[in-house]
Amino acid sequence: MIICVEGVDGSGKSTQAELLVKRLISEGKNVQLFSYPDYESDTGKKIKEYLHGTEPVEVKSLFKMYLNDIAKDVDKIKEADKKGVAILSRYYTSTIAYQCAQGYDYNEAKKKALASGLPIPDMVVYLGVTSQESMYRKMKGGFVLDRHERDVFLIENVLKFYRKEMDDNFPGNKKWIAVNGSRSVEEIQKQIWEEVSKVAAKIEGKAAKRKLKV
Ligand code: ADP
Repeated sequence: MIICVEGVDGSGKSTQAELLVKRLISEGKNVQLFSYPDYESDTGKKIKEYLHGTEPVEVKSLFKMYLNDIAKDVDKIKEADKKGVAILSRYYTSTIAYQCAQGYDYNEAKKKALASGLPIPDMVVYLGVTSQESMYRKMKGGFVLDRHERDVFLIENVLKFYRKEMDDNFPGNKKWIAVNGSRSVEEIQKQIWEEVSKVAAKIEGKAAKRKLKV
C-alpha cells in the first residue's frame, strides 16, 4: 500500500506521517517512511542550495530536479509497497503543485510525473491549511524560512494547484482525501487512521477476491 501525505509547508505532514508510521507498526505492519526532498541525496543537496539561495533557477530544471529526487527511489518505494506500507511525505503531487505554481505547464508536469515510472499511490492524504497558517507554524517552530516557505503568493498559488490536482483526480480516481489540517494533531490523526483503514480494507478485500479466483 502506498500512502502520500501532502500539503504546503507547515501543514503537519511530518507530524502526521510519523504518527501514522507508529500506528501501523503497532498493528504489526511493515512500514517505510520516505520524505521529500531527500536532503541526504545529491539532488536533495542541490534542492537545499536552491531553497536557501536567491539565484533564479529555470522552472523546467527545478521540476526535473525535484522529480528526479523522488524517482531515484522508485525500486525502494515499490519494494516497501510489496512488503507492507510505503508512506511518502510529499510525492510527485508536490512537485506538480510547487513547480506549476511557478509557471511550469500543468499538463506537461502531469505527463512527466506519470512517465517517471513511479507507482500510483493508493491514497493521497491532503492536509489543508491556509497560507497564513503555513507561515505562522513554520515561524513559531523557530525555523529559518526558505524561499518557498516565506513567499505567501507562492503558497497561495501552490494551494490552487493542489486543488486542481484534487479536482482532476490526478493520478487516479478517488485517491485524494482532504483533511482539515487546522484541527488538533490528535483529531487529524484519528481521521487519517479511519481513512487509511477503509482503503486498506478495500485493498485486502480485492487481494482476497483475486486469490479465490486462482
Ligand atoms: P510539514 O511537514 O507539513 O512542514 P510539520 O509536521 O513539520 O509540517 O509541522 C510544522 C509545525 O507545525 C511544527 O512545529 C509542528 O509541531 C506544528 N504542527 C503540526 N501539526 C499541527 C497542528 N495540527 N496544530 C498545530 N501545530 C501543528
